[in-house]
Amino acid sequence: MSEIILKTKQEIELMRESALIVSKTLGMLASEIKPGVSTLKLDRLAYDFIKEQGAEPGFLGLYDFPNTLCMSPNAQVVHGIPNDSLLVEGDIISIDCGVLKNGYYGDHAYTFAVGEIDVETEKLLRITKESLYEGINAFQLNNRIGDLGYAIQHYCEKEGYGVVRELVGHGLGETMHEAPEVPNYGKRGRGKKFLNGMVLAIEPMINMGTHRIKQLKDGWTILTADGKPSAHFEHNVALVEGKPELLSTFEYIYKAMDVSTEEELPYRSNSLIL
Ligand code: MG
Ligand code: MG
Repeated sequence: MSEIILKTKQEIELMRESALIVSKTLGMLASEIKPGVSTLKLDRLAYDFIKEQGAEPGFLGLYDFPNTLCMSPNAQVVHGIPNDSLLVEGDIISIDCGVLKNGYYGDHAYTFAVGEIDVETEKLLRITKESLYEGINAFQLNNRIGDLGYAIQHYCEKEGYGVVRELVGHGLGETMHEAPEVPNYGKRGRGKKFLNGMVLAIEPMINMGTHRIKQLKDGWTILTADGKPSAHFEHNVALVEGKPELLSTFEYIYKAMDVSTEEELPYRSNSLIL
Protein backbone atom coordinates (compact mmCIF):
# COMPACT_ATOMS: atom_id res chain seq x y z
CA MET A 1 0.00 0.00 0.00
CA SER A 2 1.07 3.56 -0.57
CA GLU A 3 1.08 6.65 1.64
CA ILE A 4 -1.49 7.19 4.38
CA ILE A 5 -3.94 9.90 3.27
CA LEU A 6 -5.06 12.14 6.16
CA LYS A 7 -8.58 13.56 5.84
CA THR A 8 -9.79 17.10 6.53
CA LYS A 9 -12.80 17.74 8.79
CA GLN A 10 -14.93 18.29 5.67
CA GLU A 11 -13.82 14.97 4.21
CA ILE A 12 -14.55 13.22 7.49
CA GLU A 13 -18.11 14.62 7.39
CA LEU A 14 -18.57 13.21 3.89
CA MET A 15 -17.22 9.88 5.07
CA ARG A 16 -19.65 9.95 7.99
CA GLU A 17 -22.47 10.27 5.47
CA SER A 18 -21.25 7.16 3.62
CA ALA A 19 -20.72 5.24 6.86
CA LEU A 20 -24.24 6.11 8.06
CA ILE A 21 -25.78 4.82 4.82
CA VAL A 22 -24.06 1.47 5.42
CA SER A 23 -25.21 1.55 9.05
CA LYS A 24 -28.82 2.14 7.97
CA THR A 25 -28.54 -0.65 5.40
CA LEU A 26 -27.45 -3.12 8.08
CA GLY A 27 -30.26 -1.81 10.31
CA MET A 28 -32.78 -2.46 7.54
CA LEU A 29 -31.39 -5.98 7.08
CA ALA A 30 -31.58 -6.70 10.83
CA SER A 31 -35.40 -6.77 10.56
CA GLU A 32 -35.26 -9.14 7.57
CA ILE A 33 -32.86 -11.77 8.91
CA LYS A 34 -34.85 -14.81 9.96
CA PRO A 35 -35.01 -18.55 9.28
CA GLY A 36 -36.18 -19.19 5.70
CA VAL A 37 -34.74 -16.07 4.05
CA SER A 38 -32.01 -16.46 1.42
CA THR A 39 -28.82 -14.43 1.47
CA LEU A 40 -29.51 -13.47 -2.15
CA LYS A 41 -32.86 -11.92 -1.16
CA LEU A 42 -31.09 -9.88 1.54
CA ASP A 43 -28.50 -8.83 -1.04
CA ARG A 44 -31.22 -7.50 -3.37
CA LEU A 45 -32.92 -5.62 -0.54
CA ALA A 46 -29.59 -3.99 0.29
CA TYR A 47 -28.96 -3.02 -3.34
CA ASP A 48 -32.34 -1.28 -3.60
CA PHE A 49 -31.96 0.41 -0.21
CA ILE A 50 -28.50 1.81 -1.04
CA LYS A 51 -29.75 3.16 -4.38
CA GLU A 52 -32.71 4.82 -2.60
CA GLN A 53 -30.19 6.61 -0.38
CA GLY A 54 -28.54 8.11 -3.46
CA ALA A 55 -25.44 5.97 -3.03
CA GLU A 56 -23.76 3.17 -4.98
CA PRO A 57 -22.97 -0.31 -3.63
CA GLY A 58 -19.27 -0.19 -2.80
CA PHE A 59 -18.44 -3.89 -3.26
CA LEU A 60 -20.39 -4.64 -6.45
CA GLY A 61 -17.75 -4.92 -9.18
CA LEU A 62 -14.89 -4.07 -6.81
CA TYR A 63 -12.11 -6.51 -7.76
CA ASP A 64 -14.98 -8.10 -9.77
CA PHE A 65 -17.00 -9.07 -6.67
CA PRO A 66 -20.44 -10.10 -8.00
CA ASN A 67 -22.81 -8.73 -5.31
CA THR A 68 -23.74 -5.86 -3.00
CA LEU A 69 -23.06 -7.71 0.26
CA CYS A 70 -20.47 -10.18 1.45
CA MET A 71 -22.60 -12.77 3.27
CA SER A 72 -20.61 -15.27 5.31
CA PRO A 73 -22.60 -17.81 7.37
CA ASN A 74 -21.25 -19.94 10.22
CA ALA A 75 -17.73 -21.23 9.35
CA GLN A 76 -17.31 -18.65 6.59
CA VAL A 77 -15.07 -15.83 7.79
CA VAL A 78 -15.57 -13.16 5.11
CA HIS A 79 -16.16 -12.62 1.37
CA GLY A 80 -19.01 -15.16 1.10
CA ILE A 81 -21.17 -14.75 -2.01
CA PRO A 82 -24.96 -14.43 -1.58
CA ASN A 83 -26.94 -17.40 -2.94
CA ASP A 84 -30.33 -19.14 -2.88
CA SER A 85 -29.74 -21.27 0.20
CA LEU A 86 -31.93 -20.38 3.14
CA LEU A 87 -30.81 -19.30 6.59
CA VAL A 88 -31.92 -21.66 9.35
CA GLU A 89 -32.52 -21.25 13.06
CA GLY A 90 -29.19 -21.31 14.93
CA ASP A 91 -27.09 -19.97 12.05
CA ILE A 92 -24.92 -16.92 12.34
CA ILE A 93 -24.46 -14.66 9.33
CA SER A 94 -21.68 -12.10 8.95
CA ILE A 95 -22.77 -9.30 6.64
CA ASP A 96 -20.20 -6.88 5.27
CA CYS A 97 -21.48 -3.89 3.29
CA GLY A 98 -19.79 -1.07 1.42
CA VAL A 99 -21.19 2.05 -0.20
CA LEU A 100 -19.80 4.93 -2.23
CA LYS A 101 -21.28 8.40 -1.92
CA ASN A 102 -19.79 11.81 -2.75
CA GLY A 103 -16.61 10.02 -3.77
CA TYR A 104 -16.04 8.40 -0.35
CA TYR A 105 -16.51 4.85 0.83
CA GLY A 106 -18.19 3.42 3.91
CA ASP A 107 -17.39 -0.18 4.93
CA HIS A 108 -19.15 -1.75 7.88
CA ALA A 109 -19.94 -5.27 9.11
CA TYR A 110 -21.96 -7.11 11.76
CA THR A 111 -22.48 -10.77 12.62
CA PHE A 112 -26.14 -11.55 13.23
CA ALA A 113 -27.76 -14.49 15.02
CA VAL A 114 -30.55 -16.20 13.07
CA GLY A 115 -33.15 -16.93 15.72
CA GLU A 116 -31.74 -18.62 18.83
CA ILE A 117 -28.06 -19.63 18.74
CA ASP A 118 -26.08 -21.77 21.16
CA VAL A 119 -24.34 -20.13 24.10
CA GLU A 120 -20.81 -20.82 22.80
CA THR A 121 -21.52 -19.06 19.52
CA GLU A 122 -23.26 -16.23 21.36
CA LYS A 123 -20.08 -15.76 23.36
CA LEU A 124 -17.97 -15.70 20.17
CA LEU A 125 -20.14 -12.88 18.84
CA ARG A 126 -19.97 -10.92 22.09
CA ILE A 127 -16.20 -11.26 22.51
CA THR A 128 -15.53 -10.36 18.86
CA LYS A 129 -17.65 -7.22 19.13
CA GLU A 130 -16.03 -6.28 22.43
CA SER A 131 -12.60 -6.76 20.83
CA LEU A 132 -13.59 -4.25 18.15
CA TYR A 133 -14.06 -1.65 20.89
CA GLU A 134 -10.75 -2.70 22.46
CA GLY A 135 -9.18 -1.91 19.10
CA ILE A 136 -11.03 1.37 18.71
CA ASN A 137 -9.96 2.41 22.19
CA ALA A 138 -6.31 1.88 21.20
CA PHE A 139 -6.72 4.20 18.19
CA GLN A 140 -5.38 7.25 20.06
CA LEU A 141 -2.95 9.96 19.00
CA ASN A 142 0.67 8.73 19.17
CA ASN A 143 -0.33 5.12 19.76
CA ARG A 144 0.79 2.76 17.00
CA ILE A 145 -0.81 0.20 14.75
CA GLY A 146 0.75 -2.56 16.83
CA ASP A 147 -1.04 -1.26 19.93
CA LEU A 148 -4.40 -1.61 18.20
CA GLY A 149 -3.64 -5.09 16.90
CA TYR A 150 -2.31 -6.19 20.28
CA ALA A 151 -5.50 -4.99 22.01
CA ILE A 152 -7.73 -7.09 19.75
CA GLN A 153 -5.47 -10.13 19.75
CA HIS A 154 -4.97 -10.18 23.51
CA TYR A 155 -8.70 -9.81 24.18
CA CYS A 156 -9.62 -12.72 21.89
CA GLU A 157 -6.75 -15.12 22.49
CA LYS A 158 -7.33 -15.14 26.26
CA GLU A 159 -10.68 -16.77 25.40
CA GLY A 160 -8.88 -19.37 23.27
CA TYR A 161 -10.09 -17.91 19.99
CA GLY A 162 -8.13 -17.73 16.74
CA VAL A 163 -7.28 -14.32 15.25
CA VAL A 164 -7.23 -14.45 11.46
CA ARG A 165 -3.84 -13.32 10.12
CA GLU A 166 -4.30 -13.18 6.35
CA LEU A 167 -7.07 -10.57 6.32
CA VAL A 168 -6.76 -7.18 7.99
CA GLY A 169 -8.44 -3.83 8.53
CA HIS A 170 -7.38 -0.83 6.46
CA GLY A 171 -7.43 2.86 5.80
CA LEU A 172 -10.58 4.11 4.08
CA GLY A 173 -11.37 7.10 1.88
CA GLU A 174 -11.70 7.72 -1.84
CA THR A 175 -10.69 4.10 -2.27
CA MET A 176 -12.05 1.14 -0.30
CA HIS A 177 -8.66 -0.11 0.78
CA GLU A 178 -6.02 2.51 1.56
CA ALA A 179 -2.87 2.49 3.65
CA PRO A 180 -2.28 1.56 6.38
CA GLU A 181 -3.04 -2.13 6.80
CA VAL A 182 -4.57 -2.65 10.25
CA PRO A 183 -3.91 -6.23 11.47
CA ASN A 184 -5.99 -7.65 14.31
CA TYR A 185 -2.77 -8.87 15.94
CA GLY A 186 0.47 -7.14 16.76
CA LYS A 187 3.10 -6.04 19.23
CA ARG A 188 2.71 -2.98 21.42
CA GLY A 189 4.76 0.03 20.39
CA ARG A 190 5.34 -1.29 16.85
CA GLY A 191 4.21 0.03 13.49
CA LYS A 192 3.16 3.45 12.22
CA LYS A 193 2.01 6.15 14.64
CA PHE A 194 -1.61 7.29 14.55
CA LEU A 195 -2.18 10.87 13.40
CA ASN A 196 -5.21 13.17 13.44
CA GLY A 197 -7.20 12.82 10.21
CA MET A 198 -6.59 9.08 9.83
CA VAL A 199 -9.74 7.12 9.00
CA LEU A 200 -9.60 3.37 9.59
CA ALA A 201 -11.87 0.42 8.97
CA ILE A 202 -11.21 -1.62 12.12
CA GLU A 203 -12.53 -5.16 11.67
CA PRO A 204 -11.66 -8.13 13.87
CA MET A 205 -12.26 -11.51 12.18
CA ILE A 206 -12.26 -14.02 15.02
CA ASN A 207 -12.57 -17.81 14.87
CA MET A 208 -13.91 -20.02 17.66
CA GLY A 209 -11.10 -22.50 16.95
CA THR A 210 -7.92 -22.25 14.90
CA HIS A 211 -6.86 -18.96 13.32
CA ARG A 212 -6.10 -20.87 10.12
CA ILE A 213 -8.34 -20.36 7.11
CA LYS A 214 -8.94 -21.80 3.65
CA GLN A 215 -10.57 -20.48 0.52
CA LEU A 216 -13.33 -21.99 -1.60
CA LYS A 217 -12.81 -22.61 -5.31
CA ASP A 218 -15.09 -19.64 -6.07
CA GLY A 219 -11.98 -17.52 -5.47
CA TRP A 220 -13.74 -15.46 -2.79
CA THR A 221 -15.19 -17.31 0.17
CA ILE A 222 -12.84 -17.56 3.14
CA LEU A 223 -13.71 -20.16 5.79
CA THR A 224 -12.18 -21.56 8.93
CA ALA A 225 -9.79 -24.48 8.43
CA ASP A 226 -11.47 -26.48 11.22
CA GLY A 227 -15.10 -25.76 10.26
CA LYS A 228 -15.84 -23.94 13.53
CA PRO A 229 -17.77 -20.64 13.45
CA SER A 230 -16.22 -17.23 12.80
CA ALA A 231 -17.43 -13.70 13.60
CA HIS A 232 -16.71 -10.31 12.03
CA PHE A 233 -17.57 -6.80 13.22
CA GLU A 234 -16.35 -3.62 11.51
CA HIS A 235 -16.58 0.08 12.30
CA ASN A 236 -15.25 3.13 10.44
CA VAL A 237 -13.35 5.36 12.83
CA ALA A 238 -11.68 8.76 12.41
CA LEU A 239 -8.95 10.16 14.65
CA VAL A 240 -10.25 13.61 15.62
CA GLU A 241 -8.41 15.84 18.11
CA GLY A 242 -6.43 12.86 19.32
CA LYS A 243 -9.44 10.62 20.00
CA PRO A 244 -11.23 7.91 18.03
CA GLU A 245 -14.61 9.02 16.67
CA LEU A 246 -17.09 6.54 15.19
CA LEU A 247 -18.39 7.32 11.71
CA SER A 248 -20.49 4.15 11.48
CA THR A 249 -23.00 3.03 14.12
CA PHE A 250 -24.72 -0.21 15.12
CA GLU A 251 -27.59 1.85 16.55
CA TYR A 252 -29.92 1.13 13.59
CA ILE A 253 -29.35 -2.61 14.12
CA TYR A 254 -30.03 -2.25 17.83
CA LYS A 255 -33.23 -0.30 17.17
CA ALA A 256 -34.43 -3.09 14.87
CA MET A 257 -33.59 -5.66 17.58
CA ASP A 258 -35.02 -3.55 20.40
CA VAL A 259 -31.65 -3.63 22.15
CA SER A 260 -30.33 -0.79 24.29
CA THR A 261 -26.57 -0.37 24.83
CA GLU A 262 -24.16 2.46 25.56
CA GLU A 263 -21.16 0.72 23.96
CA GLU A 264 -20.67 3.44 21.31
CA LEU A 265 -21.13 6.47 23.55
CA PRO A 266 -17.42 7.03 24.41
CA TYR A 267 -16.62 7.24 20.69
CA ARG A 268 -19.62 9.04 19.28
CA SER A 269 -19.49 12.62 17.99
CA ASN A 270 -21.45 15.01 20.24
CA SER A 271 -23.07 16.56 17.20
CA LEU A 272 -24.38 13.29 15.78
CA ILE A 273 -28.16 12.94 15.70
CA LEU A 274 -29.33 9.46 14.73
MG1 MG B 1 -16.05 -4.50 5.31
MG1 MG C 1 -13.11 -3.39 5.52
